Amino acid sequence: MRPSLYTLLPNGNAKCQACAHQCVIKPDGHGSCGQRRFNGTSFIVPRDAVSGLAIDPMEKKPLYHFLPGKEVLSYGMVGCSLACPFCQNWEISQVGRDERADATMRAVTAEEMVELAVQRNVPAIAATYNEPIISAEWTADIFELAHNKGIRTVLVSNGFASPEAVALLAPLTDAANIDLKAGTDDGYRKLGGHLQPVLDTIAELHRQGVWLEVTTLVVPGFNNTPEHNTAIAEFIASLSCDIPWHISAYFSTYKMPSTPQFTSLIDIEAAVQCGNQAGLHYIYTGNLRPNLSHADTLCPHCGKRLIQRFNYTLQGNAIKNGKCPDCGAIIAGVFD
Ligand code: SF4
Repeated sequence: MRPSLYTLLPNGNAKCQACAHQCVIKPDGHGSCGQRRFNGTSFIVPRDAVSGLAIDPMEKKPLYHFLPGKEVLSYGMVGCSLACPFCQNWEISQVGRDERADATMRAVTAEEMVELAVQRNVPAIAATYNEPIISAEWTADIFELAHNKGIRTVLVSNGFASPEAVALLAPLTDAANIDLKAGTDDGYRKLGGHLQPVLDTIAELHRQGVWLEVTTLVVPGFNNTPEHNTAIAEFIASLSCDIPWHISAYFSTYKMPSTPQFTSLIDIEAAVQCGNQAGLHYIYTGNLRPNLSHADTLCPHCGKRLIQRFNYTLQGNAIKNGKCPDCGAIIAGVFD
């Protein structure tokens, strides 16, 4: 029997414990995410529906050191625990928070989804597109069913989770990509959250042996400063220099439609420098024209080009038994 991520309070309200907001919800109300509800007697967790279901390359999550070149059945619901003004998929994430967000869902069960992965011979399932922590109990059901069928599991999250949700999902998760959107608490407050719970989620997933990669969207006027990107890179390095860091370019959208419309290459390269100075072994850049991205995996010991990628597609993989074939250095990741 799994623990519940909510508590019914003696005063007739309910407390949600899925994300770090820890909302207290009155009868017939919902939490800050707009998705978890309390009807006065029962707590209602989103489940059995998706806004999107597609087979993606693993590189799109992005995960570059977990089953490179393999496919992943990716699903998402609607809603999010944060309200980033630069959200790149706000039509899905802000349902329940912003009436302009109008993504709809269709019914699908955990069993149907896992069966689809089996039929299509897809080796992994990813909870992605919206924030999977707000439906953590259903995510856990899907991941457990997937494991029972020999299918790996991937969590793509903003990391603004409660310790209880991390404790529920970490043992069922094989790989995760967690956003680290800002290096300061002040930055996270602008997104409707806090920094420390995100750092705690990343550290705990790493401690529990989940293969981990971190993504930062570099947004002009928000986090395109050494203050943010040095703090992010040094935090990752404090856990392990082998954790890949994906530095992603922004394009103007949602509540930040103004200029500049794109992250400049200068800002992307400045963030890469922060990662280099922190000693990170694997730094990637994305959301750029493919010929401008750093998408290849290089051996951190001898510099050999090990994995070549173009536009999320694998062009070649020279890693042998998890090692560089030239110098024998171990390449961190899960390669089979
Ligand atoms: S998931 Fe987070 S935002 Fe949603 S109801 Fe629970 S505590 Fe509140």
